[in-house]
Amino acid sequence: MSERLFGLGFDAHPREVGRDLWLGGVHFEGEPGLSGHSDADVVCHAIGDGLLGAAGMGDLGDYFPDTDQRWAGIPGLELLAKVVELLAAEGIRPVSCDATVIAERPKLGAARTDMASRISEVLGVEPGRVSVKATRPEGLGLAGDGAGCLALMVAER
Ligand SMILES: [Zn+2]
Repeated sequence: MSERLFGLGFDAHPREVGRDLWLGGVHFEGEPGLSGHSDADVVCHAIGDGLLGAAGMGDLGDYFPDTDQRWAGIPGLELLAKVVELLAAEGIRPVSCDATVIAERPKLGAARTDMASRISEVLGVEPGRVSVKATRPEGLGLAGDGAGCLALMVAER
């Protein structure tokens, strides 16, 4: 019988005008981006962190430190694919994912479906197993001038 594993991931990046905005592997044209060593895709980072948490394998910083030039500008989905490989090596595979993006902008709207579909492809699960939701911090400090993401992951061994 397979064993169910659960993990929680969180990530946040401040806004940086002049960079491209990538969330869940989707590019938001004309939106100010986020600052970071990688492409600062908070959604992919939170999901990757949650997956490692479910597997009891540490966090993203353990495998992709921002002091390592190999990971400079790495796209979120690519990083997530590497996390899935790390888990697969331990016989663990993702089952489902629920993520909430915390940001004043952009309005995610229809892009949520697109994000969920790209993420599910990388995780190797059906699109219906990935949920992407959005909430605005209403001026409160958390991700008030940036974007954050919380992700709840289910994996199995
Ligand atoms: Zn990040």
